[in-house]
Amino acid sequence: MNLGTTRNVLAVDIGGSKLMAGIADAGGNILCRVKQPLKPDITGEHIISIIMETVDLIRNRNPGAWEAVDCVGMTIPGLADHEKGIWVYACFSKIRDLPIARIISYELNIPVFIENDVNACALGEKMYGSCKGVNDFIWMTISNGVGGALVLNGELYRGAYLNAGEIGHFNVMEGGYECGCGNKGCLEAYAAGPAIVRRYLERVKPVLTPGPGVNAGIKLPVSEPGITAEKIAQAAEDGDEVSREVFNETGYYLGKALSYAINLVNPEKVILGGGVSMSMHLFYEKLIKTINDMVFLEANKNIIIEKTALGYEAALIGAAAVGRKGMERI
Ligand SMILES: [Zn+2]
Repeated sequence: MNLGTTRNVLAVDIGGSKLMAGIADAGGNILCRVKQPLKPDITGEHIISIIMETVDLIRNRNPGAWEAVDCVGMTIPGLADHEKGIWVYACFSKIRDLPIARIISYELNIPVFIENDVNACALGEKMYGSCKGVNDFIWMTISNGVGGALVLNGELYRGAYLNAGEIGHFNVMEGGYECGCGNKGCLEAYAAGPAIVRRYLERVKPVLTPGPGVNAGIKLPVSEPGITAEKIAQAAEDGDEVSREVFNETGYYLGKALSYAINLVNPEKVILGGGVSMSMHLFYEKLIKTINDMVFLEANKNIIIEKTALGYEAALIGAAAVGRKGMERI
């Protein structure tokens, strides 16, 4: 029996606002899962204790599946040194240089492997999703931020300083909105969930101004507060013109940035994941048109652009792939 292909993985997906953990079988199927909220400004000590609490919950609820767990795969929302198992940096937290793999491995007495979350999604797509036989592809997450990962010649390409694939910081608008990275006009400042909300509000705000006029008193199709990209997507589906236009623009910005990446890499596929990608039907047409207008078409005419096959749990399945891939190495 080859234990390497029959054992389970404890998958841990650390996000900006929540932690998901579960047990995945050898086929990447999530057998059980637990979700925990994470506060902003989280510390290293706090994240370790939440992970251990979550592991206890999973272990107690699923003793059979836990018995077969032989490693942990973990996603890190930020810069991760996968070789040393160190969470190097995440902009939303106070965590710096946390040797998270060593600490969790010591607690559970099994190997722990970590990877940047977007890289993990790409690994998941390659191992369990729609890129099983694909050697060259780009993975793009569009959610609260925009991230990218590259698989080239069948392997993750991390770059000399582990930061390859930062497609979210491609400039799509000279002198445009400020981005979290300090530059102006980055894709992330135009196409991430909060950026979609901002562009929507900019378009509808004038009609909220009280006073006489044809637009006075018009109600927003999406009410404030609590406005989200998801609600704008719903309004677009219900036929709201402004919301539809906002998503159309999203397709333009994503297509513009992707055209540079496609011209550089000449990939077989581009896979879109993250919450905003679940509304891909609202921006797909504009995305494809923009890419067609901007890439060297003859060189890239067979490219396939599609949504992740892993759905909402892409990062958790990616974490499972990180664990399985790690076990192949040892
Ligand atoms: Zn940026």
